[in-house]
Amino acid sequence: MNEPIISTHDLSVHFPLTGPLFGEKPVVRAVEGVSVEIGKGSFYGLVGESGSGKTTFGRALLRAAPITRGSAIYNDGEVKYDLPTIKKHELTDYRKRAQLIFQDPYAALSPRMTVRDIIAEPLEVMGLTKSREETDERVREIAAKCRINLEHLRRFPHAFSGGQRQRISIARALVSKPNFIVADESVAALDVSIQADVLNLLKSIQQDMGLTFLFISHDLSVVAHTCDHVAVMYLGRLVETAPTRELFANPRHPYTKALLSAIPSLDPDDQGNPLKLEGEIPSPTNPPPGCKFQTRCRYAIDLCRKEEPKLDKLGDDHDVACHRWKELAA
Ligand code: SF4
Repeated sequence: MNEPIISTHDLSVHFPLTGPLFGEKPVVRAVEGVSVEIGKGSFYGLVGESGSGKTTFGRALLRAAPITRGSAIYNDGEVKYDLPTIKKHELTDYRKRAQLIFQDPYAALSPRMTVRDIIAEPLEVMGLTKSREETDERVREIAAKCRINLEHLRRFPHAFSGGQRQRISIARALVSKPNFIVADESVAALDVSIQADVLNLLKSIQQDMGLTFLFISHDLSVVAHTCDHVAVMYLGRLVETAPTRELFANPRHPYTKALLSAIPSLDPDDQGNPLKLEGEIPSPTNPPPGCKFQTRCRYAIDLCRKEEPKLDKLGDDHDVACHRWKELAA
């Protein structure tokens, strides 16, 4: 792995709820004790069901969600920021270096602005260009990279399809020349036929501009074709991380296995999904004791209900948090 651009240690994000006047107030533990290193230039996948905390984790790295505990360092070789204690003027600079691509291209774009103005807005807000000519030049340059027809810069978003709108969102995120991008379910709202097109675009831009991506998705099949490393999250915790090939070839955590078995098979003789996930992810306000997956795990034993498993190092950059992974692998 290259030098990490993002390193977190024991990162937690909690949201206090209003509760009774006396006694303990309820807290949503959206992210709990997450430690990761995202190498420069990598396409790092973060997967899990809705409610697993992956979006909150991505937003915490952009300082758009509060960091309750733990450390998070951004280091692109030029600047190094301690994200939990980042100062106001550093945050202004960090916003140029770290950007978000939204999930929903329909909601993310103002219907009253032209495509040119949508893409140019971050440059103007951050004061990154000195003249309208320079802004237009940057907008045209990034629009071309994102395969947006330059004729379309004068039009409004409603004139475009979902895929075209997502390319406009991507251009807007990239126009400040960031180093680190959080792409949150960036293809989930698109037709399957368009998803591959947008994924190929993200991949080629990443290689062309040397960017680092945190690619958040609920869909392991999407991650398989784009990411070089994958982390699986459940109820705010990392339960397994590995290079993508290794994770798909040798999944060790029962939750990862269940997610993989949910990928539709093209084989007509496939007998279905023996590891199908039952039930809902528990509430992060009141998580179960011990292993957080125990309420849905067919392999749970007493130990799982009492003690939370720690991430074990399996070698080859592969970590898993399960008391029984060795037995289950055998
Ligand atoms: Fe299942 Fe126990 Fe492993 Fe948790 S620790 S995933 S409950 S076997």
